[in-house]
Amino acid sequence: MNRRNFLKTVGISGISLFAMPLVSSFATTKIQLGNKIIRSISDGHLQLPMSFVYPDIEKNLLEKILTNNGLATNFLKPECNLTLLEDGEKRILFDAGAGANFMASAGKLFTSLEDKAISLDSITDVIFTHGHPDHIWGIVDDFDEISFPNAKLHFPRVEWDFWRADDTFSKVGEERKTFVIGARNRLEIMEERIVLFNVGDEVLPGIEVVGTAGHTPGHCSFAIHHGSQSLMVIGDAITNHIISFSKPDWPTGSDQDTELGAKTRKMLLERLATDKMQIIGYHLPNGGVGHVERKAQAFQFIQ
Ligand SMILES: [Zn+2]
Repeated sequence: MNRRNFLKTVGISGISLFAMPLVSSFATTKIQLGNKIIRSISDGHLQLPMSFVYPDIEKNLLEKILTNNGLATNFLKPECNLTLLEDGEKRILFDAGAGANFMASAGKLFTSLEDKAISLDSITDVIFTHGHPDHIWGIVDDFDEISFPNAKLHFPRVEWDFWRADDTFSKVGEERKTFVIGARNRLEIMEERIVLFNVGDEVLPGIEVVGTAGHTPGHCSFAIHHGSQSLMVIGDAITNHIISFSKPDWPTGSDQDTELGAKTRKMLLERLATDKMQIIGYHLPNGGVGHVERKAQAFQFIQ
């Protein structure tokens, strides 16, 4: 029995199958860019031990900056914010959330979409930033079917090759081995609907692929253009609203290549501050929408 047969049998909609009435969704932010309506949609949040996020930063220094900014020193609880773009013809999601099997505090996307009366079968395209669990595990449902039955799936080619390569499992550290197995299982199910793209491509009209490798080998961001206005979906290229901006050089354990991650972050912050682009950050607070300004020798996130 697959998901659709099951739904037919029990006579309920795909959405209500996933509804979890006790879970509330987070704030949503809406931006208008010409005929495009862009919204941030919550998938809940993660709970990450500080030893994973900033293992290489001196404890006192790290705790001082966290405490000064009202953040806990043992765990970070970053939001997970997908981007939904509607232009009257297409309904495009950026990333697919964590699904039911990654972390109890994440995987709330289906509830958030239901709250906004957006059905899963109305999603025409899903564009992925990278292959981490909180971004792709939600693409496959409990019946091993694609969660969005009519969507075309756009995936970065470098990222696709990385997660599927024979030697990736042996090359990554212990803490990332489940990421590899999880990505492989999902990518196999996604394969028949996949369209691969490269940095510099226009993945769909008005959506330019910006290479932001470091967090993962093929991580991509997306500049959405309309006339002189633009917005960038930055995925996980910039992850913490305080430290990534004020200390962009600091290595973070959430980047697979910490050195390249820092280099990319600085390059991206420079561009975003110069171009005065709005951004949606997957793990930034209050829906993740804001912009970047220069501050002292570094940057700050403005909402
Ligand atoms: Zn992430």
